[in-house]
Amino acid sequence: MSNTMPIDNNQQGTLEPTSEKNATDQLNKISSAVQALKDAVILINDDDGLEWWNQAAEDLLLLQVTDKGQSIFDFISAPEFRQYYQSTTIPNDGVHIESWRDAKRYLKCEITPFGDEKLLIIYDVTRLHNLEEMRRDFVGNVSHELRTPLTVMMGYLENFSHQPDMPPHWRRGFELMTQQTARMNRIVNDLLLLSRIEIEEAHELTYIDMTKLLTHVYDDAQAYNQSYGHTIHLQIDTYDGLQGSEMYLNSALSNLVINAIKYTPKGGDISISWTKTSEGCKFAVEDNGIGIASQHIERLTERFYRIDKGRSRATGGTGLGLAIVKHVLYQHEAKLQIDSVEGVGSTFSMVFPAAYVRSAPTS
Ligand code: ADP
Repeated sequence: MSNTMPIDNNQQGTLEPTSEKNATDQLNKISSAVQALKDAVILINDDDGLEWWNQAAEDLLLLQVTDKGQSIFDFISAPEFRQYYQSTTIPNDGVHIESWRDAKRYLKCEITPFGDEKLLIIYDVTRLHNLEEMRRDFVGNVSHELRTPLTVMMGYLENFSHQPDMPPHWRRGFELMTQQTARMNRIVNDLLLLSRIEIEEAHELTYIDMTKLLTHVYDDAQAYNQSYGHTIHLQIDTYDGLQGSEMYLNSALSNLVINAIKYTPKGGDISISWTKTSEGCKFAVEDNGIGIASQHIERLTERFYRIDKGRSRATGGTGLGLAIVKHVLYQHEAKLQIDSVEGVGSTFSMVFPAAYVRSAPTS
């Protein structure tokens, strides 16, 4: 037997009871509908205690009538759930946890604040989770398998291209084959990096000396910049470093800097900065390049999303750089901010939370 849900008539939207009996009928109808849902629905009071639940929740959490008022954490102990539940601004997309009754099942918990109370809905997302996993494995395996044939092709093409007796009408063809295999190789490497970041749930975090890392990124940028002739400034306002994954961060920072170089007409100005903020620390790359129209900004971190495919290809882009940036930032609980005006320029910033900021060790 479940507890009865206290329903406020004002919450009923289009249902407008005309009499007391009518109202009771409608209330019963709503209650039965929630009871019949396959997803678990739980109403939690402001003390985190169970207030009301439907049949699916009763089956999932093995609840009994006497559990009314018990803390939700007595039934769902996953640390990810507690973190999600207690975050001040509850993220809209919920949290995925492994089922505590069957490790092969995956659940998604979603909380909607409801006055002083909270409505928790738990969905079974096992099928979605397995499909995601299959997609990740497939992309990872295909990329891995393509690596060796590509390396062999690149080696032979390189050798043939340098043959002095190569007929001139073949030379152009060889040049194009060399360019395209190198491009394919970059795509495969980026796909492999993406799958590695996605699969590694717990990556090793170490202290990163940001001054050192930024100087390294800046030196690489200067080398890449030779054919563009931009002026690149590096401004480091704090010695604070980060607790993070150095290899992945290096890749994310470089992607933003290389993009600024690629998408700025020759002789532009690019500023790279590392500053302390009220939230933590911020890495920013500002350019005075081609900019981005606002309707594209939301989708830029999708794999292979490119505003101008021709331009991206011409500059050697894989269309995966910002997807890599997004995943690396997710690992560090950091946010990506994109401010851009078409024809004026763009600023891409990574905002790292204070929890990941570390002051330089005293030697
Ligand atoms: P790509 O390999 O094509 O550069 P990314 O994922 O790094 O792929 O970037 C996605 C798209 O975002 C690019 O194709 C480009 O259209 C746009 N973009 C990224 N950075 C900038 C920038 N600094 N200025 C203008 N457009 C940019």
